[in-house]
Amino acid sequence: MTVYGIVIPSACHCLQRDLFFENCAIKTIKETIMAVKDIKLDTPQDIAELLDLEDFGQIYRLADQVRNEHMGDTVHMRAIIEFSNVCKRQCIYCGLNKSNREISRFRMSRREIEETARQAVMAGYRTVVLQSGEDDYFTAERLGKIVGDVKALDGFQDTGPPIVTLSCGELTREEYAYLKEKGADRYLLKHETADDALYSRLHPCGELKSRINCLRDLKEVGYETGSGFMIGLPGQSLETVGKDLLLLKELSCEMAGIGPFISNPKTPLAGEQNGSTELARRAVAIARLLLPKANLPVTTSLAILAPEENPFDFGANVIMKKVTPDEYKEAYEIYPAEYSKTNIVRDKKELEEKIRFYNRVPK
Ligand code: SAM
Repeated sequence: MTVYGIVIPSACHCLQRDLFFENCAIKTIKETIMAVKDIKLDTPQDIAELLDLEDFGQIYRLADQVRNEHMGDTVHMRAIIEFSNVCKRQCIYCGLNKSNREISRFRMSRREIEETARQAVMAGYRTVVLQSGEDDYFTAERLGKIVGDVKALDGFQDTGPPIVTLSCGELTREEYAYLKEKGADRYLLKHETADDALYSRLHPCGELKSRINCLRDLKEVGYETGSGFMIGLPGQSLETVGKDLLLLKELSCEMAGIGPFISNPKTPLAGEQNGSTELARRAVAIARLLLPKANLPVTTSLAILAPEENPFDFGANVIMKKVTPDEYKEAYEIYPAEYSKTNIVRDKKELEEKIRFYNRVPK
């Protein structure tokens, strides 16, 4: 498999391709493709070498071109509701881990979740992401009712019921299937790191094998499935990132969230260095080459660490916006960050302006 093979699918014949290049007046893209056509993305080592390039400019341009060719200029906006920060797991990088006694725990009620989702849908969001810690209170049955509430919010737009994405951690295959029946469309479950030993060090509460099995279950029961990982975890190497990227490909993920690790002072990883935003951008660019049609978000952690950089010029095509009510937003403290007060309508307009500022089309 070569980068060239990914960029130019067999269905796209040369004439169209040449016309596209002429029309876009982007001669350098042709040159870029020629220059990188022999680069291999077959092994973690291949990818590590690429990530380590002094000048990554050509790969960024190529990733942006692949994004344009397969996904167009649209940037999809998703509203995310963080409805519970109660978590039974002990992921040592995460502020929600159950050993952290320094955050106040909350659960939104079914009605609060529905009302927040209603406001998001009325504001024009077409996708609602429901995220939480692994909270046993939210059984599949309770979650199913919430999914049903959100799917029923279809009277506001002419686009039909909203898409519902769940991100509530590891459940059984039966529970995933039940929630799919209740109307959930997509599921996000990052594998976090594809290195077995590193995974075990970071997760006293679980095994990489189980995480991957969950991802396979999600695919098999019919979800659009998203995985992803963090950049800059202590002990991670460029080859680990290569493994991470190849795992996304192997799982045929429809979505992948790749963002820098942010050290949280209330966790055992307090004082560790934050992940590199440059490396995160490079990893997203390679994900775009490996999975041309995947939805790749600009992760919140990347936007927090690099607020001034163009978030849309390296392959990403999705952005999430918190719509979590103010009384809960601060407490959903995965890592330290400052958020302004939520105003769902105003925030969405600002996001649209930002997307247009970078010559992309908000949706
Ligand atoms: N419980 C769900 C799960 O396990 O997928 C969703 C909630 S979890 C808090 C959401 C994501 O936050 C994780 O997948 C992880 O990648 C990210 N995360 C947690 N701590 C982080 C940190 N310190 N820096 C960057 N990302 C972090």
